[in-house]
Amino acid sequence: MNKGIKLYEGKAKIIYETKDKNILIQHFKDDATAFNNLKKSKVEGKGVLNNRISEYILNNLAQCGIKNHLIKRLNMREQLIRKAEIFPIEFIVRNIATGSLTKRLGISEGTVFDKPLLEYCYKNDDLQDPLVSKEHIFSFGWATEGEIKIIDKMTLRINDLLLGMFRGVGIKLIDFKIEYGKSWNKDTEMKEIILADEISPDTCRLWDVKTEKKLDKDRFRKDLGNIIQGYQEVARRLGIMPEETNISEVNFGKTTSIKFKKK
Ligand code: C5P
Repeated sequence: MNKGIKLYEGKAKIIYETKDKNILIQHFKDDATAFNNLKKSKVEGKGVLNNRISEYILNNLAQCGIKNHLIKRLNMREQLIRKAEIFPIEFIVRNIATGSLTKRLGISEGTVFDKPLLEYCYKNDDLQDPLVSKEHIFSFGWATEGEIKIIDKMTLRINDLLLGMFRGVGIKLIDFKIEYGKSWNKDTEMKEIILADEISPDTCRLWDVKTEKKLDKDRFRKDLGNIIQGYQEVARRLGIMPEETNISEVNFGKTTSIKFKKK
């Protein structure tokens, strides 16, 4: 399907129209950003890896009954997706304490939660995606109580499925962010809630089970270097690069520094 006009360009992806008003093309860029765009860099090959990893994960979730926007991968950087009206909320799931949670609440790094912790953030770059409560979501009409009930249930199921998928290849799923939208179902002729966006090392924290080496975007955020090697390791273990699927200890070399964008 041919690309139409560019509808939206985000930090890591571009969305294009197609001839079908209900179908879009999602293009994965190599750009990496962190700390609300303060830190920026190009990571060669990241878009290709995220496209492949997200395709693998979303297809596996679909097989387990999680409806999502992915129709099919088109090429190394692009996917055909169902158009969805995205809820302005980032849904975050935490299994182990790290990142903004430890900074915000002083919870010890590495605390394992008895049950997954769900958080909601308002998607707004100018406000730095602030944490909000369900009451904010309902009061401001970002989603209804019924919709959040469905989404919470789907999110916990996705967490269960992802925990198993990653644990099977020697990776601990620490936390992740997902997004949902409402999309037209032409069979039922009704709108339905579907998982959207991507699930990749850009949106998850993934640690090697044995060494606790980080295999995700924290390599970029924390200047640990070898970003692409981390993402490649995730792809290899998931069998996306079948020539090297054996689970070996991750042995990263020297780290390289990344430039901060001048304010
Ligand atoms: O930074 P924080 O600890 O809140 O991130 C929690 C999880 O959500 C991490 O896996 C992070 O990669 C993901 N996240 C994301 N996009 C954001 C904020 C967080 O993918 N804008």
